[in-house]
Amino acid sequence: LSALQENVERSNRNIDWPQVNDRHMYPSEVFGQDVFDRKTMAGTLPKPVFQAFSKQVQGHRQLDRPTADAVAHAVRIWAMNKGATHFTHWFQPQTGTTAEKHDSFLTLKSQIIDGQEEIYAIDAFSGGQLLQSEPDASSFPNGGIRSTFEARGYTIWDPVSPMFIRRGPHGTAVLYIPSVFISYNGEALDEKTILLRSSEVISKATVGLLRALGDNETQRVTTTLGCEQEFFLIDRALYNLRPDLKIAGRTLIGVPPPKHQQLEDHYFGQIPSRVLACIAEAEYELARIGVPVKTRHNEVAPNQFEIAPIFEEASIAVDHNLATMEVLHQVAHRHKLKVLFHEKPFKGVNGSGKHANWALQTDSGDNLLDPTSTPETNYRFLLVLVAILDAMYKHGDLLRASIASASNEHRLGANEAPPAIVSAFLGDHLSEVLNSIEEKRPVADFSQPHLQGVSVGGTTLDLKISSMPPIARDLTDRNRTSPFAFTGNKFEFRAVGSKQSPSFPIVLLNAAVAKSLQLVTEAVKKAQGKKAAPSTEDLLSVIRTFAASSKKVRFEGNGYSDEWVVEAEKRGLPNIKSCPAAFKRLLLDHNKQLLTSLGILSAAELTSRYHILLEKYAKDLLIEANTLRSLIVNGVLPAAFTYRKELADSINSQKSAGVDAIPEKKLLNTLTKGSIALQESSTSLEALISKIESLDEESQGETAGKELTVAMEDVREKSDALEKQIADKYWPYPKYTELLL
Ligand code: ADP
Ligand code: MG
Repeated sequence: LSALQENVERSNRNIDWPQVNDRHMYPSEVFGQDVFDRKTMAGTLPKPVFQAFSKQVQGHRQLDRPTADAVAHAVRIWAMNKGATHFTHWFQPQTGTTAEKHDSFLTLKSQIIDGQEEIYAIDAFSGGQLLQSEPDASSFPNGGIRSTFEARGYTIWDPVSPMFIRRGPHGTAVLYIPSVFISYNGEALDEKTILLRSSEVISKATVGLLRALGDNETQRVTTTLGCEQEFFLIDRALYNLRPDLKIAGRTLIGVPPPKHQQLEDHYFGQIPSRVLACIAEAEYELARIGVPVKTRHNEVAPNQFEIAPIFEEASIAVDHNLATMEVLHQVAHRHKLKVLFHEKPFKGVNGSGKHANWALQTDSGDNLLDPTSTPETNYRFLLVLVAILDAMYKHGDLLRASIASASNEHRLGANEAPPAIVSAFLGDHLSEVLNSIEEKRPVADFSQPHLQGVSVGGTTLDLKISSMPPIARDLTDRNRTSPFAFTGNKFEFRAVGSKQSPSFPIVLLNAAVAKSLQLVTEAVKKAQGKKAAPSTEDLLSVIRTFAASSKKVRFEGNGYSDEWVVEAEKRGLPNIKSCPAAFKRLLLDHNKQLLTSLGILSAAELTSRYHILLEKYAKDLLIEANTLRSLIVNGVLPAAFTYRKELADSINSQKSAGVDAIPEKKLLNTLTKGSIALQESSTSLEALISKIESLDEESQGETAGKELTVAMEDVREKSDALEKQIADKYWPYPKYTELLL
C-alpha cells in the first residue's frame, strides 16, 4: 500500500537541460559532445598522426605503436578535460550485455632526489593500454573454448567505433573504448568480433557482384542497421515488490487487468509526463555519446514504449543499441521507474521486440535495397533482392536460431509477433515484378493501380481535401505479421527479441546473404560467358532462376494465421517451435559449412556458441521455476491460508450466533480446493526442478523446454485462479492493474 502511495505522490524529476545563450541547446549541438570522433581527433592530433590513423583504420590494419601512443595521449587529455578519471575497454561477452572494468589514469613514478627515491603521481595512458587489455576470460561464457591451462583473453580496441565518455552518478566520468574480446588463440569470445567478420565478408561478396555488373568504383559496402527498441516502464516501488520481475524480468503469476490494450488507445497516444521526462533525459545522454535517437512513441500495450535511432553502420548500431539499453536502465532509476526489456513481461499483454532494419550501402552512399521508381529495370537491385530471398530460403532456420531464447519464446507465434516459421514479405509491387520476370511477361502497370486491380504502387494518393497536396505512396505496403519484411528500402527483421543483442541475428543474416550473393555473382558470370559484359537477358535469366528457386520462402499473407502453418508445412519450410531444436540448427551441415567456409565462425566457435545458448536457456528456465516456486510457497499459499482462517473464524462466530445461511462457506470451499490444487502443482514443480538439475547439459535444455514450461504454466493457472478469489488486502504482490495502469 505504501508503495502505491509512493507511486501516486511521486513528482517529476527536474532535468537540467544544457543551456546556451539563454536557450536550450539544439539537438545537433548536444550530439556527439562526449565522443572522440574523427572531427575531434583531427582537432587534437598532429596532422601526420591523424593521417596515419585514418589510413590504418580505412585499410583495416592494426595501428602501429607510435600512432597508438599519440592517439592515447590526445584522448586522455581530451577526456580528462571533460572530467574523466578512468578508462575502460567496453566489450560484448556472450551474456547479452556489455562488460567493462575501469582503470584509473593514475600512475606512480619514482625519481631519485638527493640520493633518495621520491614517489610521485602522474596521469598516463599509453598506446598499449589503448589497444589491448587482458581480462580473465574464464569468468565469461566461453562454451568450452578455453582450455583449462589458458584462461587468458584479450580485449582489443575496434577503432571503427569511436571512443566516448560515459557519465555516471555524482559527476563520475569514464572513457569508454569499444573493443572486441578474443581468446588467447584468437577465437571470438564475444558478439562483436563475429559481426565485424561478417561485415567484411558481405562487403567483399557484394563488391564482387557489383564488379560483375561493371561497377569498378565501389570499394566497400557497409551493412546498415537501425534497431527499433521496445520496452516497458513501470514504477520502481511496485517493481521492487515483485520478486519475479526482479529475478526473471517477467511476471510468473498474475491475472491480466480488465482493461489493457483492447481499446487500442495506448498506441501513439500521449506519452505520460513522467515517462516523457525519463525518455527525454535518456535521449539527451545518448545524444551526448553520439547515439542518434530519432523517434519515440507509445507502443500497443499499456506502459509500453519504443525509441528508434537513425540507422548506422551495423557494428556501431549494435554498440549504440546496447548503450541505449544501459542508459535507459540508469536514467529510469533516477525517475524512480524500472525499464523492462524482457520480451514478454506480462501475460495477456503484448510483448516487446527489437525490429532490426537492415540494408546494404555502397561507399558512395547508394542504398542497394532502394528499388527506385522502376524496380523492374533496376537489375542491380533485383539481383541483390533475389540473393536475399535465396539466403532466407536456404538458411531461414539459421535466422530462427539467432533469435531463440527462453524469453523470446513467449512472444514468437503468440499472435503478436512473427511466427517461428521464417518467410519473407515483399509487397504487391515487388512480388509482381519478380513474378513477371519469372513468367516472362510484361510487368503490371503500377502507375494506374485501379486498372490492374492492384491496390498499391509507387503512386500518389488523392486525399480529396483541397488544402492538402497529393502525397507520395510508398512502393511497399506493410505486413506486420512477417518475420522478415521488405519496407521500402530495407528489410525489417522483426523477430529479434527486445532483450537480446542484435549482433548474432545480423551476423547470421550477413553470412547467409553473403553466400547467396557469391552464388548470384557466379551465375551472372556464367550467363555472360565470353561476352565483355552481361546482357540484360543474362541478368534477367539469373534473376528468374533465383526468384523461382527461392519462391517458397515468399509469403504475403497473414503470418499469424493457422492456415499459414499448414501452408508452410506443405512448402517444406521449417517450423521450429522449441529453442533446443532451433539451437541444433546451428550445427547442421548446411549451416556449419556456410559459417566455416566464409570464415565467420570456426567449427569450434560455433560449437561453443551452441553450448552457451543451450546452457543459458536451461538456466533461465530453472531460475524462473525456482522463483515461481518461492512466490507460491512464500507468498501465495500463506496468503490463501490467512484468508481461509479469517473466513473460518467468521463462519464459526456466525454459527454460534445462530446464522443459518453463511455466504463465506462457499468461498472457503473454493479456496480450500484451490489451495490444495496449487500446493500439489507446486510440489510437482519442485520435484521436476530437482530432476532437471541432476541431468546433463543437453538433456537439461530439452527437458526444461518440454516439461518445466508446462509445469510452470500449470502452477500459474492455479495461482491466478486464487488471485481472483483472495481479498486484495491479503494478496502479497502488486497486481497487473497496479503495475500497468
Ligand atoms: P517503422 O516503425 O515504420 O518501421 P521507424 O521509423 O520506427 O519505422 O523505424 C525505422 C528504422 O529503420 C529506423 O531506425 C531507421 O533509421 C531504419 N532505417 C531506415 N532506412 C534504413 C536503411 N537503409 N538501413 C537500415 N536501417 C534503416
Ligand atoms: Mg516501428
